[in-house]
Amino acid sequence: MKKTRAPHRSKSPRAVQELSRLAAGLAASGSRIEDAFWENLLAATIHGQLRTGDDQNLETALDQLYETDPAGYGEFIHAIEAAIECSVLTHKDRNYDVLMFAAPVLTWSRFSIPSGPIPEPMLASLRAHLQAQVLATDIQFSLADYLFSPDQLPRGYHLTHELAKKLWVASAENRDLHMNPRQLAETGRFLSDTRYLLGAIAVPRGKPMFQWQESIGTSQVGKVPETKTQKQEILLAWQTPGSEVLRPLFQGCALELLLPDGFFSAWRMADRLARPYSMHATIDFLQSTLNIPASGLRAVIAPFFDQWLEEYRISFTFKDRDDVLYGIVWALVGEEDETNDTVAQIETTLRECGVTHVTLLDNRFPLEYCEECGAPLFPNPEGEVVHAEFPEEGKTSSMHLH
Ligand SMILES: [Zn+2]
Repeated sequence: MKKTRAPHRSKSPRAVQELSRLAAGLAASGSRIEDAFWENLLAATIHGQLRTGDDQNLETALDQLYETDPAGYGEFIHAIEAAIECSVLTHKDRNYDVLMFAAPVLTWSRFSIPSGPIPEPMLASLRAHLQAQVLATDIQFSLADYLFSPDQLPRGYHLTHELAKKLWVASAENRDLHMNPRQLAETGRFLSDTRYLLGAIAVPRGKPMFQWQESIGTSQVGKVPETKTQKQEILLAWQTPGSEVLRPLFQGCALELLLPDGFFSAWRMADRLARPYSMHATIDFLQSTLNIPASGLRAVIAPFFDQWLEEYRISFTFKDRDDVLYGIVWALVGEEDETNDTVAQIETTLRECGVTHVTLLDNRFPLEYCEECGAPLFPNPEGEVVHAEFPEEGKTSSMHLH
């Protein structure tokens, strides 16, 4: 996707060069103590950029590092994300570690998926369950009273940081944050999508924020408690009551709550898991609407490139026909690139869903969209990109079928 740039400001080559130099220095560092040296300088420089209210220098430095220094690029991304989502906050003469967090929800529906204000009693129940099931004892935290769609998350670095700062202050006061719905974007309608609860945690410096950071009393000497298992248990403990509380908003929707975590980490996890989730949703939807088994469908997988590989697009046709009925995008997430075996993941997910007829195209397709409605175009089995056309009789009036 093309980055939107603010046209009225010119970028500063010196700032870009300094950011790249610090990130490259950090990546090449030979010790923890040297890491700290570079990290402090880099963090201060990134904060300076966030204060300008313009992401352009950060983005230009990222682009530069992506091409010249992959390790520096990775360090730089981490440093930007850290500067945006966490900090030390001094509030009323007390110092807190603060972190913006997200609790993602995967969902799908043939009808519409909700977003918008969360009623007060529901917010209070969500708070109680987050505190009981996920967050460490003795923390203070805030929740935004809004269920965000991906279109409504702040766009870009400094806007995300602006929201984080509001949530941090609210968390130090242990109160929720009111969002003005009129300031948030319209939500696109999709069969399957993600929703986010956003909040922030404030703890005295160095204290745990999540339950998996707390020591568990039952662990025996010699037995290492596994954070991964603990996280899984915490997720399961959150999913059931969390879903019950949200259910009244999600009429006619399937939903799956993911583990609340630091904003960027939770966001990437949601992007990753949304791909197989959306594939399952699509195949369920096609089977029930077209009244055919998954074995009656064929999937066509093709890679789509901008400058680099950006995503795979997967089309669905009847097994013995070439018309594309429906398509989904499987975007690369985080540090994934051409070297990951994404196709194998896609094929495995298709098989889990019962689709065994799969055509894999290996041409490099350009990222093309419908000029009228902006929907992505999808590959047909002949290797052409076309508009997905769902059969009329299967359409429900409220569905956006692009
Ligand atoms: Zn169109």
